[in-house]
Amino acid sequence: MSVNEMSHRGKAFLSIIQKAEADLRSLLNIPESYAVLFLQGGATSQFAAVPLNLCTTNANVVDYIVTGSWSDKAAKEAAKYCSPKVVWSGKGDKYTRIPSFDEVQQSPNAKYLHICANETIHGVEFKDEYPKPVNSDAVLVADMSSNFCSKPIDVSKFGIIYAGAQKNVGPSGVTIVIVRKDLVKNAQPITPVMLDYKTHVENKSLYNTPPCYNIYMCGLVFEDLLAQGGLGEVEKTNIKKAGILYEAIDKSGGFYKCPVEKSVRSLMNVPFTIAKPDLEGVFIEEAKKEKMVELKGHRSVGGMRASIYNAMPLAGVEKLVAFMKDFQQKHG
Ligand code: PMP
Repeated sequence: MSVNEMSHRGKAFLSIIQKAEADLRSLLNIPESYAVLFLQGGATSQFAAVPLNLCTTNANVVDYIVTGSWSDKAAKEAAKYCSPKVVWSGKGDKYTRIPSFDEVQQSPNAKYLHICANETIHGVEFKDEYPKPVNSDAVLVADMSSNFCSKPIDVSKFGIIYAGAQKNVGPSGVTIVIVRKDLVKNAQPITPVMLDYKTHVENKSLYNTPPCYNIYMCGLVFEDLLAQGGLGEVEKTNIKKAGILYEAIDKSGGFYKCPVEKSVRSLMNVPFTIAKPDLEGVFIEEAKKEKMVELKGHRSVGGMRASIYNAMPLAGVEKLVAFMKDFQQKHG
């Protein structure tokens, strides 16, 4: 019987979802005081779920640090359910940096402080340091969709972590939420049952039919990440992969450029441009001939973007780097 044929309430599937949760807990060292949820609706649904669960009225103030398009979208969605304040925006610098935390004037009464840990489109990533909410009753909330399970993190610094699984841990269709249990109490009365964390905590992610096969796939990935030696080892590989790519860009004598400030360059998404923009289309076409695809930058920023998630082997990045050097010799 395949996972697709199993009842989600049967013993066989229960053992799959429980094992997936246990393995994720060991990978990220998730404290018992946090619930782990396997949900649907993508990270986009969490843009609404977070304010619906953490705010009691529209008047509640919450803070957003906007470091790229995804945190911008999150703040805009939150405005339907509370009063978000953008306490810092990188828009003026075309989303190429992360503020130093004392640059950020937080609201003293904010219910939470929201960040996007890795901006997928702009390639800007929070490194080991995270801002602390100034209000001691507030919590830090992070969208980790595009760097989830790419490196170890200290879960206890966050009230809520959410991530669409489709970058590093599985197929699209599963959204993982790690929420501190004491935050799961009274969602706003208008909260749809599917966005209320209480529904899913009380029913262990089985309130309705979950994306069973996708959760099974996530479980297999967690097993694989553990077999690789855990997230510390995974991070070492990711640092190496991103390192050779950024080095190729920085040592190209200005032929290639990455606009992102060096200290916050993403290990997952590497955006770059070519000094002669006419060559960008040629680059994409020639790369395709070498079977390297999906290198076009997001339509909102242009240029190129190499997304080098966990599943991209070092050899894949080495091939891209060799291609970039050849391309520069030919066209430089
Ligand atoms: N946040 C980030 C950082 C993302 O990269 C994405 C998707 N690319 C989203 C949110 C939206 O996720 P979903 O498509 O799962 O709703």
